[in-house]
Amino acid sequence: PVILGIESSCDDTSAAVCVDGEILSNVIANQTIHAAYGGVVPELASRVHQQNIIPAVQQALLNAKVSKNDIDAVAFTRGPGLLGSLLVGVSFAKAFALGKKLPLIEVNHMQAHILAHFIDHPKPDFPFLCLTVSGGHTQIVLVKNYFDMEIVGQTMDDAAGEAMDKTSKILGLPYPGGPLIDKYARLGNPDAFKFPEPNIPDFNFSFSGLKTSILYFIRDEVAADPQFLQKRMNDICASVEKRIVTILLNKLKKAALTYNITNIALAGGVSANTGLRQGLTDLGSQMGWNCFIPQFAYCTDNAAMIAIAGHYKYLNHDFVGQNVAPLARMPFN
Ligand code: ATP
Ligand code: FE
Repeated sequence: PVILGIESSCDDTSAAVCVDGEILSNVIANQTIHAAYGGVVPELASRVHQQNIIPAVQQALLNAKVSKNDIDAVAFTRGPGLLGSLLVGVSFAKAFALGKKLPLIEVNHMQAHILAHFIDHPKPDFPFLCLTVSGGHTQIVLVKNYFDMEIVGQTMDDAAGEAMDKTSKILGLPYPGGPLIDKYARLGNPDAFKFPEPNIPDFNFSFSGLKTSILYFIRDEVAADPQFLQKRMNDICASVEKRIVTILLNKLKKAALTYNITNIALAGGVSANTGLRQGLTDLGSQMGWNCFIPQFAYCTDNAAMIAIAGHYKYLNHDFVGQNVAPLARMPFN
C-alpha cells in the first residue's frame, strides 16, 4: 500500500510517503520561532503547523514521485502531544481522506518512535526491549509485537530530553539544548563533576532531582567565580550527559536481566545523543545484546515513523472514522 504519513505533535511539521513498507520521502519543516522563548510555545506552534502542513505534504509527494491519486490511506499522529499542534495534522488528514475517499489510520506517537526501527534493516525480532527517550517521555517498553507493547518502567517526573533541555537553559544555552550539550560534552571530561543518581524503585526514572542539584551547583560555583560557566562549559556538559546516560543504561540493564531479553533498542530524540549511543553499544557488547540504534533522521520527530506504523496498521485493516479527535494524552492500547 501507499501510505501518506502526517506528524504534528510538537513543533515539527512532517509528511512522509511509504510504499509497501519502504519510505520514499520524509519532509520535516522545523520551527525556529521557539528558540527565542526558551521552549515550545504551543499557540505559536499550531499556527506555524498551519502554514507548513500543505507545503510539507506537497514536497513529500514530489520527493517520492507519487501522485495524490496513488495514495491508499492517510496515517496521522493522534497523540500524545500538544493539542493545538495535533489538531492541525489530524484535521489535515481527515480533510484529505474525506476528499479522496481514503481510509484513515490513527498512530500513537510513542509507538511510532519505536516502530521507526522497522524502516531500515536490520529490524529487531520480537520480543525486544526499547528505551524510548524523548522530549516528553522516558520509557522502557517491552515490545511483543508491532502494536502489542507494555510499558515496564517510566519517569516519575521529568523526561530525559527535558532534563537535557532544562540543564541547557540553566547553562544559558538556547532551546533545544540537547544537541548543544552533546556537542560540548564531546570536548569535556565526563568525570569532572559528580551529580547524584536517584534511588528510584523498579524500572522507573526520576530526573527532577538532578535538575535541582545542577541548578544549585551552578549557582554556587558562579557565585565563587563569575567566569565558571565560560571556563568549564565542556566539562559540565560532559558530566551531566554522563549522569543522564548512566541513569538510563543502569535501568535498561536491570530490565533486560529481569525480563531475560537480549534484543535491545533505543528510540526517541535523545537517542541521537552520542554518549547514549556509544554507552549502549559498549554495554551491549559487554552483555551480549543485539542492539538497535536508529538512524539520526528517525530519532527526533518525523513522519516516516508515522507512515511505517500506518503501513502495519493498514495490513491489519485497522482504520478509524472521520469522528476521530486528537488526544493530548494517549495510552498504548
Ligand atoms: P515526545 O516524543 O515525548 O512527545 P518530542 O517529540 O518533543 O517529545 P523528540 O523530538 O522525540 O521529543 O525529542 C526531542 C528531545 O531530544 C529534546 O529534548 C532534545 O533536546 C533531545 N535531543 C535531540 N538531539 C539530542 C542530542 N544529540 N543529545 C541529547 N538530546 C538530544
Ligand atoms: Fe517525539
